[in-house]
Amino acid sequence: MEAKNLKKYFKTPKGMLHAVDGVNFKLRKGTTLGLVGESGCGKSTTGRVLLRLLEATDGEVIYEGKNILHLNSNEMRALRKEMQIIFQDPYASLNPRMTVSQIIEEPIKLNKLIKNKEERFIKVLELMELVGLSERLINTYPHELDGGRRQRIGIARALSLNTKFIVCDEPVSALDVSIQAQILNLMKELQKKLDLTYIFITHDLSVVNHFSDEIAVMYLGKIIEKAPSEELFSHPIHPYTNALLSAIPKLTIKQDNEQIILKGEIVSPINPKPICRFANRCIYAKKICKEKEPALEKVCENHYVACHLFKE
Ligand code: SF4
Ligand code: MG
Repeated sequence: MEAKNLKKYFKTPKGMLHAVDGVNFKLRKGTTLGLVGESGCGKSTTGRVLLRLLEATDGEVIYEGKNILHLNSNEMRALRKEMQIIFQDPYASLNPRMTVSQIIEEPIKLNKLIKNKEERFIKVLELMELVGLSERLINTYPHELDGGRRQRIGIARALSLNTKFIVCDEPVSALDVSIQAQILNLMKELQKKLDLTYIFITHDLSVVNHFSDEIAVMYLGKIIEKAPSEELFSHPIHPYTNALLSAIPKLTIKQDNEQIILKGEIVSPINPKPICRFANRCIYAKKICKEKEPALEKVCENHYVACHLFKE
């Protein structure tokens, strides 16, 4: 998958809100791109635009060689079976009046993937096994289960079609830390087994540390740094990436720096000025930062950063 200059603007009474403002990335099959940033930075909107749950304002989304933003609704319907989303709060996205079996079965039924009822039942059992849900839970309701099991239902549902690509929108953020690891391990296992491609959206860099092949850090609608996961953790460049990394508890990563506390508010995403959007919170900000917008530039193989400082 490739996003080219992807934009999503929303009209508001105060002006245009630039939720996603020229996002570019490439994602190889069977790998994970972590999309990281504070709430409101446009990461969820990016995920929804990629799946066309929201229509892009501009740009391209190339999926298996085609710009899917130009597909009509029939062509898109076929693709929807391959492209799924997993949400932060599985409880809110699962119908409380449906049993586990009915929830997992629904997409298969709606898409007429398996017409025979018994075969469908077998498929549901297979999916439950795949995500580590005991067969005896088949007739339970979501409210009877804990958060981890609910997220397993969400994953089983997302895998019920011919799924190849999944936008995972904060899939473990609502779970206890011990359960987070279980769900992340499961998702990693499923990725290997089924050759899945993930966009993994999170506000928490420590979650994507061992999970993503590449990480893109977003700030106010833009990717401000992008690198292979290890490279980003060992050689972060952008002051904002450094601040995010410094906030991770020291037990989980090797680092000796003090936590960097960001001062100042995030500037408004409405009609943003063509300057560095991080300038008002950046301790390194210079004159040029408030005059010119830094472009995302190559630092070394696969490592890109948008900051006037790095050339110095
Ligand atoms: Fe800070 Fe300037 Fe870099 Fe923006 S461009 S992050 S203000 S140094
Ligand atoms: Mg979000």
